[in-house]
Formats: sequence, C-alpha cells, structure tokens
Amino acid sequence: MVGVIPGAAPQLLMAEGGLADASAALPSARPVPVGDGIGAVLAEPGSPAPPGLAWRAARAALPALPPQDQPVALRAVAVANWRSQGRFCPACGGPVEPDWPRQGFICAREGRPVFPRTDPCVITAILDRDDRLLLSHASNHQAGVYTLVAGFVEAGEPLEAAVRREAFEEVGLELAGARFIRSQAWPFPGSLMASFAALAATTEISVDGDEILDAAWFTRPQLARALDSGRVTLPMDYSVARQTIEAWRSGALAW
Ligand SMILES: [Zn+2]
Repeated sequence: MVGVIPGAAPQLLMAEGGLADASAALPSARPVPVGDGIGAVLAEPGSPAPPGLAWRAARAALPALPPQDQPVALRAVAVANWRSQGRFCPACGGPVEPDWPRQGFICAREGRPVFPRTDPCVITAILDRDDRLLLSHASNHQAGVYTLVAGFVEAGEPLEAAVRREAFEEVGLELAGARFIRSQAWPFPGSLMASFAALAATTEISVDGDEILDAAWFTRPQLARALDSGRVTLPMDYSVARQTIEAWRSGALAW
C-alpha cells in the first residue's frame, strides 16, 4: 500500500530508499484499491508521518524512486486525487458513493458508475529530415527550460489531430506524419500524456511570443553545447518529455 496525501501538490509516504508500506504505518487511514494489486492509503493534509518515515512532495520524490515503483506511485497519486476530489456526479451534480471494492464511485441518484476525470495531453518530438529535434520554451516554464511541443487534447479530437494542431499552433510547423510512442500518467492533477514522434514537412518556425516565447532546431552537438553553457535546461528526469528527449539524444528515437 502506498501512502498518499492527495491534493494539488500530492505527497507520498517515504521510507529510506523508497515508498513506505503504508498499510502497516497508517492503519487508521482510508485504504483504496488502485489496480494491478496496488493499494493506496489516503491521509489527511497535515497528517504526521510515523516514526522513521516522511511525507515528501510526489513530484520531487518520483525521480529518486526505483524505476518499478514510479508507475506505482503515479497510479496511487492519481486514484487518491480522484477519490478526494470527485465528490459529485459530473452528469447530474448529485452526491456519489464509493463503489467498493472498485476504486471508483457510483452516482447515488442514478446508480451509474462515475469515471475518473482524465485530461489527455499530446507531447511530440518533432524531427526534421536531418534528424534535428525541435525544442521550445513556453512562458509558463522556468527561464531556460526547453522541451517538446505539448498541449491538451480538445473535445472529440483524435490524438493524431491534436499532434498536428499543436505543432502548427505552437511553432507553425506542418507535419508529414506522426507515430505514437508511449503514454504516462501525470496526475498533477489529472493528465495522461501520450508521446509521439513526428516528421516535420516544413522547417520554418513561427512562435506567437505569448504562450511560446522561443523555439529552435537542435542537432545533438548543438543541444550538448547549449546544456553545457547553461543556456538551455531540460524538463525533470521522470517526465515523458525528458525521457523522449534523452531517447533522441542517445539515437534510440528516430523518425
Ligand atoms: Zn448522477
């Protein structure tokens, strides 16, 4: 069982070297089935950590977890956030009841299941025919952080269409094609990231100067120099953006 304090900045119960066993440490807190045999124990904000354990911000704790524990922690945080926030039926506004032993809710008025809110996002490694990678700097990122083109999927929009739309809206590029790579839950607060590799049909970049402040094509040596000089920094290690960028840097991601 993973210990979680849900919220906009969720926290994980940590032991030395990894996730704590919350079922033993927090016997009075609420257990929730999370799926894949994983459980979560939800604690209230401000709950003291048991002796020898500590609450840590989930986003900061993730990169230090063993790789097999990272998706476990993400799933526990996602379910914990949903369970703590999804108190009303999105269709009729009525109250919901826990649907034991499933992780979800049932509308108390209508008796129908209430599914978790998930906000799909596409994130795209745009490559040109010379195997250069496009990175952009958005106004809502810290100074110097360059990352892949990304955005939320609109209502009724297929992922592939969102990839093409975001590439054109953010950096003015037409795409010749795109292929799905992988997905990752990103429950801060409820995103599901779908990563793509795409081949640009055009290479002239155009940014709006408002949402996107800068964008550029990088060869591998150019990115290495920009990182060495400190002019460019990349997103945090355990993000699908960073992992996709690193795959391109190592030659494992090609169009
Ligand atoms: Zn309802």
